[in-house]
Amino acid sequence: MALVDDTQTTSEPLDSVASTVRSVRACFEAGTTQSLDWREAQLDGLIRFVDDHTDDLIAALNMDLGRPAVEAWVGDIGPSLAEGKYIKKNFRRWARPRKTKVPLAAQPGRAELIPEPLGVALIIAPWNYPVNLMLLPIMAAFAAGNAVVAKPSELSPATSELIARTLPKYLDGGAFAIVEGGPDVATALLQERFDHIFFTGSTHVGRIVMEAAAKNLTPVTLELGGKSPCYVADDVDVQVAANRIAWGKGVNAGQTCIAPDYVLVSEGRRDELVGAVGAAWNRFYGEDHSSTSDFGRIVSDRHQQRLVGLLDGQKVVFGGESDRDTRYLAPTIVVDPDLESPLMTEEIFGPILPVVSVADVEEAIRFINARPKPLALYVFSDDDDLVQGMLDRTSSGGACVNHTLYHFSPPELSFGGVGPSGIGIYHGQSGFDTFSNLKGVLRKSSRLEHSLGYPPYSSLKERIVRRLL
Ligand code: NAD
Repeated sequence: MALVDDTQTTSEPLDSVASTVRSVRACFEAGTTQSLDWREAQLDGLIRFVDDHTDDLIAALNMDLGRPAVEAWVGDIGPSLAEGKYIKKNFRRWARPRKTKVPLAAQPGRAELIPEPLGVALIIAPWNYPVNLMLLPIMAAFAAGNAVVAKPSELSPATSELIARTLPKYLDGGAFAIVEGGPDVATALLQERFDHIFFTGSTHVGRIVMEAAAKNLTPVTLELGGKSPCYVADDVDVQVAANRIAWGKGVNAGQTCIAPDYVLVSEGRRDELVGAVGAAWNRFYGEDHSSTSDFGRIVSDRHQQRLVGLLDGQKVVFGGESDRDTRYLAPTIVVDPDLESPLMTEEIFGPILPVVSVADVEEAIRFINARPKPLALYVFSDDDDLVQGMLDRTSSGGACVNHTLYHFSPPELSFGGVGPSGIGIYHGQSGFDTFSNLKGVLRKSSRLEHSLGYPPYSSLKERIVRRLL
């Protein structure tokens, strides 16, 4: 696998950012994007882009992340096609006015929520699933009738360059612009006025984005990260849980926003679980994990060094090997981690699995609730009461029971964080609604007129109003 040099960055001239945004806005203001046929043509274009360039995208993901083809399909290509087709099939229904009930006091009248496009959306994407996390928000924004300015990540240069060079050919160039570059370009973009900002990335940069958006009171969707916990209860088949955790942590070398970050398990089952996760990784990747093409690489030197640093002073019981030149870090298990160390206070975002012993589910719930609300929660148990108790008594953006990562894929399951792991949701109709203003409209007839609501007020009017409202 030929990894791309992570020092390379392509950068849009900063002084063209403002004119790019202006021209996309002019297209939106001309009304082009309102037409449902136009929206469908953009969705078709996005689907055709992925279809036509599947192999190129897989190759680019391999260059950027050493990503195996199956994982490129599962994480980027498949979800982009599925979401595009789902939105295309349903968006006309979502775009229709939605009738609502009219209370007695407002009758006679007809009320409805009318979805209208917000305007020009800025979409900023990360590098870890650079196709999926760029295309899904674009699909939702176009389906809702918006124009789009998009910025891919500078840390996945092969994929970003391919998208920037090729995707515009499939779309209406007036209503879509892609601007390549790093934080400098993102900063320049954030100085412009947008009608919605959809950001996927770290909690740290999410704060910067929200601060910039506040200047213009621009609504934001922030799809952020965090430490997603995984609780393995005593009743469950340990090897099954271990396979699913090892897979969720191994995909994209752990660089997945919803990767299980750490595991909570009872003291009595800890060693069994550790052995089973290690055995699963040995089955998945063979005896030498560094030589298989089924295990990815760390995106940049900086992240590789950061991850190696997280292991300082920790008790590594499996893996731990690393190679700076190939940006390799072995699937690694740490037991009894120092709870105050960066390994347990920062999002790991790599193939390191800390395993923490807890007495029981009560302690697991206290452990989770003592920390920032995570993006995902994983609970492994066949005891419905235990699972429901965990779901009821913890808060997380989403959750998956008895598996990892899978809750990302169903288009009808809204996806998003809560608190520090994110603001807002998308996928399916929730993405359409995110990029829409659901305008509440009440229509009344001018033919029926009465003076009940007008002054001068009387005790009779007051009695009637009290009954009606
Ligand atoms: P990042 O925050 O470093 O970068 C994300 C984007 O922001 C990139 O396009 C980058 O160029 C831009 N950016 C960087 N600095 C900026 C600045 N100062 N001002 C404005 N924009 C700036 O995140 P990343 O390293 O690309 O991605 C990893 C993070 O993203 C992890 O925390 C992960 O959990 C999170 N993530 C979340 C989701 C989700 O769906 N919730 C999905 C994928 C990744």
